[in-house]
Amino acid sequence: MKSGLMPKNWHFIVELPPRSDCETVVEKSWDIHLTEGILFEGQRFLFPEGCFVSVALHWLEPALLTVQLFLRTEVVGECARCLAEASLAIQDDLMYLYHLCDLEWGKDTRLESDEGFLPVEVEFFGRTIDLADQVWETLLLLLPIRLLCKEDCRGLCPECGADLNQGPCGCERQDGDPRFAVLGSFIFDSD
Ligand SMILES: [Zn+2]
Ligand SMILES: [Zn+2]
Repeated sequence: MKSGLMPKNWHFIVELPPRSDCETVVEKSWDIHLTEGILFEGQRFLFPEGCFVSVALHWLEPALLTVQLFLRTEVVGECARCLAEASLAIQDDLMYLYHLCDLEWGKDTRLESDEGFLPVEVEFFGRTIDLADQVWETLLLLLPIRLLCKEDCRGLCPECGADLNQGPCGCERQDGDPRFAVLGSFIFDSD
């Protein structure tokens, strides 16, 4: 099974301003279709509305390229507790800082460190840059650890599998070791 693999033809190519030009901000956006969804950490995530990505990049100084990456989507999958369909709107932006791998901070740059940025080392800067890895990373970073149909989803009864959101199934009072009954009621009461 594929797990968190970047889709084929996943490219986000942007033309760079000349390195001496620290004024120009290049903006570009994409509407992505993720028709097969993503299998990540054992969960299937679907994106029926697709995914919107936009970037704004500029040379912070001639050796440092900043890329502000914004991503917005709605992710749909199974509720981690009751397996019903669950969805979550996600959006965030991340600030990447691209620089050459042999860069010496404070010597080649005015900036003393990459603090506050997500650093990306590159071998060289060409006329264009492909932001594929960072868009993919951003998408995975923003996926929820687990989806819930609602915050207080009661889940399924471990005994009979009934959906406890529909009401109690009647298992609670019958199951379990009677020696734990006192403990159980204690935990319940103290809540
Ligand atoms: Zn649920
Ligand atoms: Zn039950």
